[in-house]
Amino acid sequence: MSNFNEERVLSVHHWTDSLFSFRTTRDPSFRFRNGEFTMIGLKGEGAKPLLRAYSVVSANYEEELEFFSIKVANGPLTSKLQHLKVGDPIVVSRKATGTLVLDNLMPGRNLYLLGTGTGLAPFLAIIKDPETYERFEKVVLVHGCRHVQELAYGETITETLPNHELIGEMVRDQLVYYPTVTREPFRNRGRITDLMTSGKLFSDIGLPMMTREADRFMLCGSPDMIRDTRDLLAGADYVEGNHGEAGHYVIEKAFVEK
Ligand SMILES: Cc1cc2nc3c(=O)[nH]c(=O)nc-3n(C[C@H](O)[C@H](O)[C@H](O)COP(=O)(O)OP(=O)(O)OC[C@H]3O[C@@H](n4cnc5c(N)ncnc54)[C@H](O)[C@@H]3O)c2cc1C
Repeated sequence: MSNFNEERVLSVHHWTDSLFSFRTTRDPSFRFRNGEFTMIGLKGEGAKPLLRAYSVVSANYEEELEFFSIKVANGPLTSKLQHLKVGDPIVVSRKATGTLVLDNLMPGRNLYLLGTGTGLAPFLAIIKDPETYERFEKVVLVHGCRHVQELAYGETITETLPNHELIGEMVRDQLVYYPTVTREPFRNRGRITDLMTSGKLFSDIGLPMMTREADRFMLCGSPDMIRDTRDLLAGADYVEGNHGEAGHYVIEKAFVEK
């Protein structure tokens, strides 16, 4: 049996010149945990498809799959992927994996989901998971971008999810959305690590300064963002979790620098 399913594109949405999302059919046999990534790609002329890692945006109880993608001008995959049209075929691995899953975190009071750029993607599945709200009192989604335009999914988070039939009430009571930009005026400004060290993030959302006892973190962003945030947490004796052992925080790079 092949390691891949062939799915069909159901819709495409372009957020900016460099960001887009698309939904596809989902083979019922494809199972994943919210927060995981899988390999997706396009069949080319060669025998093997051109594949890249992608976080799954849709929750694991949804019938369709959704992905949130960068457009890299000369990127082998995304230079083609950005031209996807409804009905086009797309290859999706039958397996998913990743460290950004609830089971890799110790119990705590507040869950901070810290994402930059397309690093938002896995958290969109996590904030749609009822279990997230059963395990944590408050779920704080921080999305950092350079420009306001890049704050994709803002309306989904503030308008659609609060009215969702399964999780709407939990979202209204427990989810805090904190978008922040670095390169232009906006209601929240600055890098995530600066907002944490200065305490501004916590005072803005009305929660106490972070502590190892109460707070858990999931990080997904550029290699630089991961390095800086990990340094901050590890420097305060927070322990990194993984599949072997749950910790105070877990990390996943949103992409790899080549
Ligand atoms: C665990 C994991 C999960 C990922 N999830 C996603 C996802 O949900 N959405 C997504 O768009 N990408 C994601 N990526 C990146 C993705 O695998 C590809 O790198 C990306 O689609 C570009 O593919 P490419 O072949 O066009 O260019 P590549 O040759 O893969 O990348 C070229 C260069 O583009 C830059 N780049 C690549 N991806 C990004 C990005 N997402 N944001 C900013 N710069 C980038 C890097 O500098 C990279 O060196 C993930 C990567 C990993 C390791």
